[in-house]
Amino acid sequence: MGTPNAVARDYYGILGVSRDATDDDIKRAYRKLARQYHPDVNPDPEAHEKFKDINAAYEVLSDDQKRQMVDLGGDPLAPGGGGGPGGPGGAGPFVGFQDIMDAFFGQAAGATRGPRPRTRPGADAILRLELDLQETAFGVEAPITVDTAVICTTCSGAGTAAGTHLATCETCQGRGEVQSVQRTFLGQVVSSRPCTVCQGHGTVIPSPCPTCAGEGRVRTRRSLTVKIPAGVEDGMRIRLAQQGEVGPGGGTAGDLYVEIHERPHDVYSRRGDDLHCRVTVPMTSAALGTRLTIKTLDSEEQIDVKSGTQPGATMRIRGKGVPRLRGQGRGDLFVHLDVRTPTKLTADQERMLREFAKTRGEDVAELSKQGGFFSRMRDAFNGH
Ligand SMILES: [Zn+2]
Ligand SMILES: [Zn+2]
Repeated sequence: MGTPNAVARDYYGILGVSRDATDDDIKRAYRKLARQYHPDVNPDPEAHEKFKDINAAYEVLSDDQKRQMVDLGGDPLAPGGGGGPGGPGGAGPFVGFQDIMDAFFGQAAGATRGPRPRTRPGADAILRLELDLQETAFGVEAPITVDTAVICTTCSGAGTAAGTHLATCETCQGRGEVQSVQRTFLGQVVSSRPCTVCQGHGTVIPSPCPTCAGEGRVRTRRSLTVKIPAGVEDGMRIRLAQQGEVGPGGGTAGDLYVEIHERPHDVYSRRGDDLHCRVTVPMTSAALGTRLTIKTLDSEEQIDVKSGTQPGATMRIRGKGVPRLRGQGRGDLFVHLDVRTPTKLTADQERMLREFAKTRGEDVAELSKQGGFFSRMRDAFNGH
């Protein structure tokens, strides 16, 4: 059916992260794997291949635009799959030197010490968007209403009232943690725990911003327009970078995922890029042949039903299915023919049909007289 598309690589799977992984999750997973498979530490040739895959996956998933292509089912590194480096020739994707260095000498260990920052990244948000087949097929600019935390404009995320500042927490002297010394049978044990006065931040807000009460963010309903590309399918997610929840202290917003839900259509059912519909034709038209006018999503097409068409026959109208999300062209429209046998006959019509049957040597009287199940079976086997 149609032109074969290269199967998109499972970049999420290569890094072992879920589809809603944050940028941090992706970076962490990449570092862990890069340390394991770097050719300098792992001479196994298979490890070398794996290292290339890991770099490719990181290159794609750490780039908002490329990641969005993946979420739409595409492969930004595939030849002709939307451009970008590392295309034909397979020179290999490029990952920044710093990313490799970070993988080995990264800040991981040191980063967890000290006061907890007030500003933290926000969470992703997801929104369900119902669309008609017409809209998923040809794309649409859909208005959406998003209910998320946004940055507090009164304090620009700082959380402090106008003209005031953060103050160092007196309890922990800005360290964010307090130490306690316990005498045990092993001697003195020093333990530290987060400061409860400043929640580990090391700072307090003497006069909080009246709008956000010191949170740096407020909940708001916003209207956005999301551009839905032609050919999206039910269940796909479109990622809008940094349109999710703003973090505490006005931290960078997470991403917003718009999940497509396609409403069932009363005429067409969709399978991938192909559409299917059923059309009823009278027995006589199926026997004699006829021309049908079929309404497609965007046109009217005439198809010729050949004489002698059987019930269940399928006709294909090429290129009248759903446009392909990646690549060119469209799927096909399959028209399934239901041949309808007349249920009510006038005396005249019945006479003509009997006449017709007689010319074909079909003994109608015999059949209707012996209407029992077994005689019908017998007739069927005898080829009547
Ligand atoms: Zn404190
Ligand atoms: Zn505020």
